[in-house]
This record gives sequence, structure tokens and C-alpha cells, in this order.
Amino acid sequence: MPLIVLDRDGVINQDSAGYIRGLQDWVPIPGSIEAMAALSRAGYSLAIATNQSGLGRGYLGLDELEAIHTELRRQVEALGGQVAGIFYCPHLPDDNCDCRKPATGLLQAIATELGMSPRGAWFIGDSLKDLQAARAFGCRPLLVRSGKGRATEHQLHSPRPGLENPADIPVYADLAAAARAILGGEPAVKRDR
Ligand SMILES: [Mg+2]
Ligand SMILES: [Zn+2]
Repeated sequence: MPLIVLDRDGVINQDSAGYIRGLQDWVPIPGSIEAMAALSRAGYSLAIATNQSGLGRGYLGLDELEAIHTELRRQVEALGGQVAGIFYCPHLPDDNCDCRKPATGLLQAIATELGMSPRGAWFIGDSLKDLQAARAFGCRPLLVRSGKGRATEHQLHSPRPGLENPADIPVYADLAAAARAILGGEPAVKRDR
């Protein structure tokens, strides 16, 4: 089954500068759960790769993280879809781990634990870190404008975009629009502007 990698905060749920510290902070972006379920029902395996430095900072614990991910899975399953795996980095930026995006450890973990390589798979994210990790691992980056996406899009158009060939990265309004494009067989290498 083809794989799609998703960032979490700013793609599936609203991002928060104050971190998502528990279920009370977790608010799905309109249409995102439906989009995940539709992709899953169409035969895509969904893997989430998320930086969660709030764990390392002590803003939330594994119980809170688990509660969020249980609810996320429950909502997707209620619409007939499923999430193949959720992979998170608990470290701080200064920890120099190999899993915090833009590092590729989470993508390697997806390959190892799910037995499906993310190479060549869409990686849908809102941050430059997502796009960079995707490129570094050989995924196909796709940017959404939700979350930090508008700022990221602006950066891609700047003199120092932070990665090569930024014009090759398709940009969609949000996960719902990206899913429609993927399911519609759009090459998605065109921008919807
Ligand atoms: Mg994000
Ligand atoms: Zn890490």
C-alpha cells in the first residue's frame, strides 16, 4: 500500500505557540480528520512524524501524548480510516538527536517499524523542517498553508529558501485540499495559486 507521511501540529490539528500539552489543547483543523480517513479508505497507509519537544521540556508527559493520539486515531477510525503509526521525537533542539526533524530518524523508524519505506512517499508538512526532512530522506514534500505554512511558503520565495528547488514543492491550502489533489490524481507539482 502506498504510504503518506504527515506532520501533526499545523497539519492535522491547530498549532499552538504554547505547545499542545494535552487533549484540551488538541483541536483538529476543519476537514483534516475527514481527509485522513478518505486517504486511508482509498488505500493509503498513514504515518505521522511529529516533533514533540514539549515532552523534553516537561510540558506534557507520555500519558497526555498517548491520550491525544488515542483520540486522533479514534476520530479517524470513526470515519472508516486508520493510522498506521505515530512516530514522535521527544527531544529538545539542543539534544542533537537524530530524530528531530529536519533529521530523518522518524522516517527511518517508519521504514523499520512499518516495513514501508517513506522514500518516494508524499510528506505533508507546514514547516521548513518537514520539507527538509522529506527531501533528505527522498520523500516528496508537500506544503500546506495551515499552521506555520504561510510563513514557510513566504520563506520558500525568499532569497534563502532553506532548500533547493523550492518551486518544485506543491502548496495547498490545508490537508483537506492536499488530500483531494492526491486522490484526484493531480500531479500536485503545480501550485494552486
Ligand atoms: Mg507542524
Ligand atoms: Zn529526537
